[in-house]
Amino acid sequence: MSGILVFAEHADGAFKSTATELIGKAAELATALGTTVTAAVLGDAPAADLGAAGAAKVYQAAGDFAAYDTGATTDALAAIIREAQPDIVLATASFAASDAFPRLAARFDSGMASECTNLTIEEGKLVGRRPMFSGKCFGSVTVSSSPALFTVRPNSFTQPASTGGAADVVAVAWEATSAALTVVETLATDSAGIDLTTADKVVSGGRSLKSVENFDKVIRSLASTMGAGVGASRAASDAGYCSHSEQVGQTGQMVNPSLYIAAGISGAIQHLAGMRTSKVIVAINKDADAPIFEHATYGIVADLFEVLPAIDAEIRALG
Ligand SMILES: Cc1cc2nc3c(=O)[nH]c(=O)nc-3n(C[C@H](O)[C@H](O)[C@H](O)COP(=O)(O)OP(=O)(O)OC[C@H]3O[C@@H](n4cnc5c(N)ncnc54)[C@H](O)[C@@H]3O)c2cc1C
Repeated sequence: MSGILVFAEHADGAFKSTATELIGKAAELATALGTTVTAAVLGDAPAADLGAAGAAKVYQAAGDFAAYDTGATTDALAAIIREAQPDIVLATASFAASDAFPRLAARFDSGMASECTNLTIEEGKLVGRRPMFSGKCFGSVTVSSSPALFTVRPNSFTQPASTGGAADVVAVAWEATSAALTVVETLATDSAGIDLTTADKVVSGGRSLKSVENFDKVIRSLASTMGAGVGASRAASDAGYCSHSEQVGQTGQMVNPSLYIAAGISGAIQHLAGMRTSKVIVAINKDADAPIFEHATYGIVADLFEVLPAIDAEIRALG
């Protein structure tokens, strides 16, 4: 067994930025460990292109993986792991990997660390730093079994510089062994624009927005100006101001952007669980004692209906 294998996800014929981000980090770790990086690709995608991000070889399983299928994804990834024999398997903590990786860990009788926000090498071992207890503290996790599986939150690392190289592509045969689930229909979410879960900037609104019209006028407008994803508290999504798929938190989406703007959100522990690893948090709240300010990098005690349009206008003026 040797090397680091990265599950590289793609959509609409292109690799996700999270895939190249993770391959770039894996290349850095592989240099420290004196090993190589390979990638796992499911379905039709320009696999050789991953060489530019740092993958020496890509294992590709043919099939239709457009609609997520638990059994097919787990079976195909298991076949690739058997072929590649990696010591370490990495994936972005996406919907697919969050579902398939624990199943792979069970199949290979192996350990797994989920939702890491950093990966380092200490004494020759990979260490994952991961939030615990809704982000109240962090743990350092090593996995002693092989292959060691880790999922990592999007935007944890920077994009690698392109090496311009092409990876060797190896076709891997796989068989469906688990047909416990059949995909009957796939419904697109009703949220449009930038993917909230991988967005580098997020503008989120809470109950205080009071209506869908206000949410659109203030939150969506600023997000669009900034090229940011749109998020919300559960109170806002339950009230119907936005889609449930835009809810951030323990029972919503996990986000890890460079910038998270929380407007009129009190900072309940369940909301913090989904966003407190954001690198910079800006909170806008009328109540100076709102708990969100304890976690904010910058706090603005003010009315969001005055502050957000002013920021929006200022950014627009900058062109
Ligand atoms: C099992 C469980 C799971 C949950 N999961 C989630 C989850 O995933 N995500 C989540 O978000 N919540 C979740 N919740 C709900 C959570 O506990 C809170 O109720 C919710 O986050 C509150 O949303 P809010 O901050 O928008 O509303 P509030 O707590 O009502 O806060 C509104 C804030 O807006 C401020 N405000 C009002 N007007 C203005 C203004 N004009 N300008 C500026 N500030 C203003 C107020 O001062 C206040 O701080 C969960 C709860 C439970 C029990």
